[in-house]
Amino acid sequence: MIELTQDELKQHFSAPVFRPITEVADQLGLECYVVGGYVRDLFLERPSKDIDVVVVGSGIRMAEALAERLGRGAHVAVFKNFGTAQLKWRGTEVEFVGARKESYTHDSRKPIVEDGTLEDDQNRRDFTINALAVCLNQARLGELVDPFGGLEDLKEKTIRTPLDPDVTFSDDPLRMMRAIRFATQLKFYIDDDTFASLTRMAGRIAIISRERIADELNKIILSPQPSRGLVDLERSGLLELIFPELAALRGVETKCGRAHKDNFYHTLEVVDNVARTSSDLWLRWAALLHDIGKPATKRWEPRVGWTFHNHNYVGEKMVPAIFRKMKLPMNEKMKYVQKLVGLHMRPIVIADEEVTDSAVRRLLFEAGDDIDDLMTLCEADITSKNSERKRRFLANFQLVRQKLKDLEERDRIRNFQPPVDGEEIMRTFHLPPCAQVGQLKSAIKDAILDGVIPNDHDAAYAYMMQKAKEMGISEI
Ligand code: ATP
Repeated sequence: MIELTQDELKQHFSAPVFRPITEVADQLGLECYVVGGYVRDLFLERPSKDIDVVVVGSGIRMAEALAERLGRGAHVAVFKNFGTAQLKWRGTEVEFVGARKESYTHDSRKPIVEDGTLEDDQNRRDFTINALAVCLNQARLGELVDPFGGLEDLKEKTIRTPLDPDVTFSDDPLRMMRAIRFATQLKFYIDDDTFASLTRMAGRIAIISRERIADELNKIILSPQPSRGLVDLERSGLLELIFPELAALRGVETKCGRAHKDNFYHTLEVVDNVARTSSDLWLRWAALLHDIGKPATKRWEPRVGWTFHNHNYVGEKMVPAIFRKMKLPMNEKMKYVQKLVGLHMRPIVIADEEVTDSAVRRLLFEAGDDIDDLMTLCEADITSKNSERKRRFLANFQLVRQKLKDLEERDRIRNFQPPVDGEEIMRTFHLPPCAQVGQLKSAIKDAILDGVIPNDHDAAYAYMMQKAKEMGISEI
């Protein structure tokens, strides 16, 4: 965070992009303020894309007058229903809105809106750090209007609502998700009273659409350290409501003095580990869901202890339902997450035993182009506190990676299609589509993956003839 004097603010807001706004606002005699995210990000030295301007009066009138003044090159889009207008020029987007006063009914986050003062407009903002306004009129250019101590909260890295948090959150419960999202993105802390209110108001999230919730959750997952937000979601009780499958990972059970690890906190560590090496949203989702099948598969086995057999396959099956419910895309992104969840135990098994060519070839075949992401996930999954164990696992993974590289160059297994396909088998033996064709096909595939024959057509053809003979299939 940087300190900016009034002079420095004045200088900043005299830039060419603001100049015409100041001139038109003064001509029309309208008070104008830059407000919200832009001002916050200016103090935080974060890049900011959009500029929001509050006009005490009509935002649309202001935008239209400005567009006229700027002439060609400026483009204005008016949203009458919302009382807003968006102006684009020279690669900048400025949103103009009339200052408004909002009041809410209990069952909707859509407020009743009336014209209001700057103060009314700041009252309706979600957090003190998002309620900062800077005047654009020449006489008060660069004057900061900060009625709730937003600047102080920026300094203290605090997320706090401007008014009673129970009212702010109950009016628009999406703000609860936004509180946690901003705290996570900015590495800020949620003020105690504000947090206590989150726990009281969590149930109000029920009136928010799944799409909006997913949008905020994705922003949390895309933050530098997603666990911060996920812990806050859990502690506030929101997680249980928006993502019960993840909340179910929480907790430790002990039997005969043996405890299993807390799979929720383990998952958070894995997500943070992945976040350190990749900014891919869906790889982070795969990390979040990699152990999601554990609660359903947990068993106590007397001589073994706690087990979670097949949790990867059970988890893989849970992914579509979770994506559907959360309104996440039901497309190849979901399939990718599903695949990684299903395969996440494979490299571990390989690394734990002898790393054979055949096992690595099979892994490469099943993971295809996603092999590198799968390895990233599996390395992130090693959260053992035993440093010797951790070192051994990572060393074995290195070996798996090296073998993957060698094999990839040798066999082009990654997008492997057996060189003799079903069509050719049917043609050669005059067979209709039937079980025997499938058996021959997988025999060829297995022989290549197990390194019995090389990955080329002649070898595969010869192998097919030999297998067919063994199976009593002849050429005519
Ligand atoms: P980001 O672009 O990172 O999401 P932002 O603060 O610019 O951050 P927007 O969602 O674009 O976020 O909102 C712009 C401003 O509008 C916010 O700074 C805040 O003042 C106000 N705002 C947005 N959503 C709400 C809300 N649900 N309740 C109250 N104020 C809100």
